[in-house]
Amino acid sequence: ELKLNPMISKMDESYTVAIFSKVSNMKSRGEKVNGALCVGQPDFAPPPEAIKATQEAAVQGLTAYTAVSGTLELRQAISEYLEKYKKVKYSTDEILVACGGKQAIYQSMMALCQEGDEVIVPAPYWTSYPDIVKLSGATPVILETIASQGYAIDAAKLATAITPRTRMLIVCNPSNPTGCAMSPDQLDAIAGVLRRPENQHVLVLSDEIYERICYDGLEHASFAVLKDMWNRTLTINGFSKAFSMTGYRLGYLAAPKEIVKAASKLQSQITSCASSIGQHAGIAALNCDMSYIDAKVRELQEKRDLALNLLAKIPDVNCPKPCGAFYLFPDISAYLGRRTPEDETIEDGVQLCLYLLQKRHLL
Ligand code: PLP
Repeated sequence: ELKLNPMISKMDESYTVAIFSKVSNMKSRGEKVNGALCVGQPDFAPPPEAIKATQEAAVQGLTAYTAVSGTLELRQAISEYLEKYKKVKYSTDEILVACGGKQAIYQSMMALCQEGDEVIVPAPYWTSYPDIVKLSGATPVILETIASQGYAIDAAKLATAITPRTRMLIVCNPSNPTGCAMSPDQLDAIAGVLRRPENQHVLVLSDEIYERICYDGLEHASFAVLKDMWNRTLTINGFSKAFSMTGYRLGYLAAPKEIVKAASKLQSQITSCASSIGQHAGIAALNCDMSYIDAKVRELQEKRDLALNLLAKIPDVNCPKPCGAFYLFPDISAYLGRRTPEDETIEDGVQLCLYLLQKRHLL
C-alpha cells in the first residue's frame, strides 16, 4: 500500500475544484452541461489592455523568471492601485505577487500559523480556508454567521470565539459564498474587538479578492485602513475575479515587511515566482480603463437580480440578497430529506449539487 504523508488524509480536496473536474469530464464525453455554476469564474473577458500586454510580453521576450516577490513594476502598480482605490499604503517590499490569491493565502498561513494555534473561520466559508489552516498545523475554529444578519460577522460572537491560542481571524469581504459585503461600521465593530487589550495577539487575513465587485453603490473598505489595524492585517487580492483573469494565476499579499519576507521565502522554494507574462498583463489590468470593469459589475448586478427573482419562485427557498461577489447562497434546507422524481433522497448540499449536475445538467 502506498504510504502517504498523513497530512493528505487530514485534508479534503477542494469541493469546487472536484465538481469542476466532474463538469469538465462530462463535457469531454459530449454531455451537455451548463458548467457556469461550479467555480468562481466570471463570464466576461479580461480587460483588452491585459490581453494586448499578454501578447506583447511573449513577443518582446518577457519570458524569463522574475524576482521571487514579483517584478518591481507590478509591485509598484499594485502599491499605486491600493493607495488610489483602497486608501491604504503599502511599499513595494510590503507586497508579494503569487500564483493566485490562493497561493498567497497558503503561504501567509504557513508563514504564521502552526500546531497549537487557532484560526477563526467565519462560516459559510470559501471551501479552501479550513484545509489551508489544517495544512499549517493550526486548528480551524468555525464562527457561524446567520442569514438574518446578512451573514455579517457578529462582533459579540467573535469576542467569545477568541482564545489565547487564536492566531488569526479570516475576514472574506465581500464573501464567497454568501456575497455578504460588510459596511465600514460592521468592520469597525470587528476591529473594536481586536483592539481590546486581551486580543492584541490576533492577526487578520483580509481576503479582498472581490473588493471591486460590490452592488447597489456599496463602497468597499479595506480592513487595513481601520484604526490600529494595518500592522495586524494581511491583505489578499488578485486578478481572477474583477479582471476575470483566473487562468493567469496571479494574486498578491500586502502586509508588513517581515510577513511578506517570510511568505516570499516559502515561495522561493515552491514556485520561484508567478508567470512573467501574467505579471506583465497584471500591470496593464491595474491600469486599464476601469469603466470596462464597472460595466461588467453592473451586468453582474442585473444577473443577480434576475437570479434572485427566479429563486424566489421556488417554494421554500430563501436567499439573502448579496451586496458583493457573484454568488447566491440560497437556503435549501427545506428540501433535505425529500425524494427526487428518480426516487433518490437528497441528504445534504453536496448531494443536491451532484443531483443538479448529473440529473439536470445544471451546474
Ligand atoms: N479567495 C476567495 C474568497 C476566492 O473565492 C478565491 C477563488 O475562488 C480565491 C481566494 C483564490 O483566487 P485565485 O487563486 O484565483 O486568485
